[in-house]
Amino acid sequence: MTLQPPTHNFENDYAELDRRYAFHPFTALADHEKNGPAFVLSHGEGSTLTDTQGRRYIDALAGLWCVNIGYGRAEMGEAMAEQARTLSYAHAFSSMAADKPAMLSARLINMAPVPMSKVFFGNSGSDANDTQVKLAWLYNNALGRVHKKKIIARQRGYHGVTLMTAGMTGLPGLHAGFDLPLPMIRHTTAPRRLWEGHGLSDAEFAASLAADLEALIEAEGADTIAAMIMEPLMGAGGVIAPPEGYYAAIQPILRRHDILLIADEVICGFGRLGQNFGSSVFGMEPDLITIAKGLTSAYFPLSACLVSDKVWQVLAGPAHAKFGAFGHGYTYSSHPIGAAAALANLDIIEREGLVAMAGDTGAYMQAKLRAAFGDHPLVGEVRGQALIAAVEFVKDKAAPLAFDPGLKVAPRVIAAARARGVIGRALPNADTVAFSPPFVISREEIDTVVAAFRDAVDEVMGELRASGDF
Ligand code: PMP
Repeated sequence: MTLQPPTHNFENDYAELDRRYAFHPFTALADHEKNGPAFVLSHGEGSTLTDTQGRRYIDALAGLWCVNIGYGRAEMGEAMAEQARTLSYAHAFSSMAADKPAMLSARLINMAPVPMSKVFFGNSGSDANDTQVKLAWLYNNALGRVHKKKIIARQRGYHGVTLMTAGMTGLPGLHAGFDLPLPMIRHTTAPRRLWEGHGLSDAEFAASLAADLEALIEAEGADTIAAMIMEPLMGAGGVIAPPEGYYAAIQPILRRHDILLIADEVICGFGRLGQNFGSSVFGMEPDLITIAKGLTSAYFPLSACLVSDKVWQVLAGPAHAKFGAFGHGYTYSSHPIGAAAALANLDIIEREGLVAMAGDTGAYMQAKLRAAFGDHPLVGEVRGQALIAAVEFVKDKAAPLAFDPGLKVAPRVIAAARARGVIGRALPNADTVAFSPPFVISREEIDTVVAAFRDAVDEVMGELRASGDF
């Protein structure tokens, strides 16, 4: 029997096309195949998205924490079109170089939060973090430390979805059914004030987290551990800022055991915390830095690994020569259109002072969210810093006690907010909704977002009371 191409008479019914022929990341597959998408987007401008029915929404998450300069910038389109006309592609294998990626490399080294020597480009946060692991392994192999290979990550940290990085991500939903994590990954305690740090002062909590890490390292043996990866402020795992003194307690332990520190700046990098990098905000001194998302504000898929001189000297030194040329890289590493997009994006951020704007607007957003939800009966915690925040729902604040995940409290709040014209996101494996809007969002738009969410939360609370679940 020959396979026939799909035939249909609903070419313009995008929702139906999507329902029939696509499946989606982080989506309940059977539900989507049954119900199709909630909407089909067709336009974006600033912080606003429009769907094919002409309905408008404020995007309170900047896509996936990435459209930092806002949607629909003509300047970005022009920079990428110009690059496509002049040099649409150049690979970077075997010393091949192109002008824009070279310029971007220098610019990134100049703006790094701690001295860095070299840049290696990838296509996504996941593949860049995968590269970081390979660099850490190569580094230790070059030094003859063949057993120093395990990677420590944190529960609730998010580092991607490739075979290695999905395991490093400390969220059970990314492991179940995939035979993950791979065996060389270990997780240490998440710095969640509401749960792991309940009732502790900042100093006590930081000390207990450091003690957990030290105990893990002792149990595994420092000579088996290559690196620890951390987001300066955790994003997708719940928008979790560390307690005061956390990195000051953690970093000496890593240094003492000769464990490399990888800062995953995929969300924090390029201004969301009101400074260029989260590492600067929290006093982190990483050996390797991962960037993506805000590097191009998601106008083009581009990521990078920044490599310190300490690591670079080993990778490029005589000890590594025994492995031959660096056997790693992607067809799209150093893509010139991605580099042109990043350069134009960084120009816009600098020219418009968007990092400072993220700090100012962020302070406004934090105050508004705390005023709206600080005392709300359904809310266990409002948290975050600058232009990234979260609201977590709990059944009982004092205990604290979580809702049955089957009640889907956070997804219901998101659906109720969407009905009021605001797009947000319920985070995986937590009853938490996140806020991470474009840096250009106005105060009026923030007011609209907060009011819509307040109504949405009240609506869901009413339902939970009616069903006897709250
Ligand atoms: N690291 C962090 C901190 C992230 O937030 C993400 C994406 N949410 C990733 C890595 C993975 O990036 P990507 O989805 O581009 O692979």
